Amino acid sequence: MSVSFDRGHAASWYAATANPAPERPALDGEITCDVCVVGGGFTGISAALHLAERGLSVVVLEAVRVGYGASGRNGGQIVNSYSRDMDVIEAKYGAETARALGDMAFEGNRIIRERVARYGIDCDLADGNLFAACNARQLAGLREHQALWERYGYRELELLEGEALKREVNSERYVGALVDHGGGHLHPLNLVLGQAAALESLGGRILEHSPVTAVEHGEPVTVRTAGGCVRAERVVMAGNAYLRGVLPEIEGRSMPCGTQIITTEPLGEARARELIPNGLAVEDCNYLLDYYRLTRDNRLLYGGGVNYGGDDPADIEGVIRPKMLRTFPSLADVKVEYAWSGTFLMTLSRLPQFGVVNGNVYYAQGYSGHGVTCTHLAGKLIAEVMHGQGERFDAFAGLPHLPFPGGRLLRVPLSALGAWYYSTRDRLGL
Ligand SMILES: Cc1cc2nc3c(=O)[nH]c(=O)nc-3n(C[C@H](O)[C@H](O)[C@H](O)COP(=O)(O)OP(=O)(O)OC[C@H]3O[C@@H](n4cnc5c(N)ncnc54)[C@H](O)[C@@H]3O)c2cc1C
Repeated sequence: MSVSFDRGHAASWYAATANPAPERPALDGEITCDVCVVGGGFTGISAALHLAERGLSVVVLEAVRVGYGASGRNGGQIVNSYSRDMDVIEAKYGAETARALGDMAFEGNRIIRERVARYGIDCDLADGNLFAACNARQLAGLREHQALWERYGYRELELLEGEALKREVNSERYVGALVDHGGGHLHPLNLVLGQAAALESLGGRILEHSPVTAVEHGEPVTVRTAGGCVRAERVVMAGNAYLRGVLPEIEGRSMPCGTQIITTEPLGEARARELIPNGLAVEDCNYLLDYYRLTRDNRLLYGGGVNYGGDDPADIEGVIRPKMLRTFPSLADVKVEYAWSGTFLMTLSRLPQFGVVNGNVYYAQGYSGHGVTCTHLAGKLIAEVMHGQGERFDAFAGLPHLPFPGGRLLRVPLSALGAWYYSTRDRLGL
């Protein structure tokens, strides 16, 4: 299958405010290295950086630009844990698996903070995020959520109702919220660009405009692009939702999903702080959730919506602006200056897929909408498994992953039907 890629970043607020970064050349000819990484998002760059820190020679092949995919255009919310929480993991896969994953549920967040501090990455890192309940059922769920994370030793959560809630998010939509003081938000494109620069400072190579067209198994593995090939002892596949038609072994049990973000004109500090007085990142608890936060220049960056299959809506503002106005009706007169779409990879279990094909082609993907922290954990675990410490990687790799019901043809309409059912329940408060 031939897949076409853009030449540059989506026209997002992030791309408009990105720190300066060099445009790297495309692969031209043949290179030999220890590890070839396919994909220059959080998963790929984080893995490459951990590997380079351990002294391996690493080459990253990125189809477009570093951070072109979900990593450079997401909500920037540092959400702890996974898209399915430990109670579900415990019920489905047993206490041992839940304990192993639970022990790592807050580590991705710590890795990000450590990377930012160690390499001096300028990415607007700010503390605190909040889960907002739209009805009593969701609020009861947040109480359980707090008790669950506390069982795993995490004590940064605070439940809010009434006036205390309004002091954090000034919207009539919510009946309560759970603040994670240890979570946060950041400029995701600048985070990945900063880690890419750190990688290069350690001797790692990044080649952009280099879509991989084939991975030929063997020892070494041969990774081909139109301009040449990389021969590597080991490969990391980190193309996530943007990887199509390269490695069928890892592309069948997941579904690309689109989600959209708009960013307003600058609101001025006073007006911005009326909405979210202490600058927390917010996501609601609906099945099709809204997520938003303020930017450093006092814009509201507001995301929501899911398109199963990943096709972009023609009118992004037309889809997201009404959601924003339901939350903050006072913004009716405010202009939207940026609107973009991105694609994440959903799995049926909502847990990420880690594994190895043919003994030396590793992969991590399918974070199911919450990947900012888990991608950074994935990078570290990939470096560990390549150094013979596979226990933590294997805790994820051992999770069973089923295909979506309906196969490639019917997975999109069936998932849309399921989403319609759950979002109707949310609307009715059931
Ligand atoms: C709009 C949006 C909002 C989101 N908001 C949040 C949030 O607030 N918090 C959160 O935790 N998560 C969020 N997510 C999810 C999170 O962004 C992703 O889980 C995470 O960024 C995935 O990182 P990745 O590196 O695995 O994949 P990507 O960042 O998608 O990177 C994959 C890279 O691989 C490259 N590639 C693909 N195929 C090839 C090939 N053949 N050859 C070479 N390169 C290739 C692509 O060009 C791309 O750069 C959001 C996602 C989206 C789309």
